[in-house]
Amino acid sequence: MASAFTHAFVAAVGAQVYRPRGDAWRVYGAAMLCAVLPDLDLIGFAFGVDYADLLGHRGLTHSLLIAVLVGIVATLFVCSGLSRFSGQWWAAVLFFSCATASHGLLDAMTDGGLGVAFFSPLDRARYFFPWRPLRVPPIGIELFFSRWGLQVIASELLWIWLPGLAIGAAACVVRRWIGSSRRDHNSIRVIAGRRTHEEGEGATRRWAPDTTSGRGNEDRTGRYD
Ligand SMILES: [Zn+2]
Repeated sequence: MASAFTHAFVAAVGAQVYRPRGDAWRVYGAAMLCAVLPDLDLIGFAFGVDYADLLGHRGLTHSLLIAVLVGIVATLFVCSGLSRFSGQWWAAVLFFSCATASHGLLDAMTDGGLGVAFFSPLDRARYFFPWRPLRVPPIGIELFFSRWGLQVIASELLWIWLPGLAIGAAACVVRRWIGSSRRDHNSIRVIAGRRTHEEGEGATRRWAPDTTSGRGNEDRTGRYD
């Protein structure tokens, strides 16, 4: 695993780039939870489950199949307002599935442990990416406060947090820019709509005497000349 903070951070950046419809805080929270969930398999060590087993660390819980199932469950809970099986609903499923799958992708970029069983249970082989810049964190909190832990933090800062912050900031700027250009567009439409309405009323006022009496304009007293 990369550290839990880094898994959650990657999901938060994903939510900043693409946010499905729903309460923003719930979407962020659920995405971050999805991203750390696969490491629940660490509990297996306490029950004697071997690392390389189907339910071992980086096994079934890190697979793409589980990522999709978690994505569906998260969508049902977080985006309950979306009509099921609509385009937006499937987009939300894809988002939460990717947030969950990002965990395995990060783990496959670490330099230690066994690889990730992406295709479990069909294929229980463990995979790593050819490029593995992340230092694998120790299992156990004590070792995290050591030279090893510092190396983990340094590698994750460099390869995940810095690019992630840049991507998140860029997404924030683009989102604001799109929002302001939409507001401008809407206000132009409102002004244009008002003008059309006023011109229509003016035309009616100008032409009303001619079409009703055919003799002239109404004066302030309401009499016709
Ligand atoms: Zn993991």
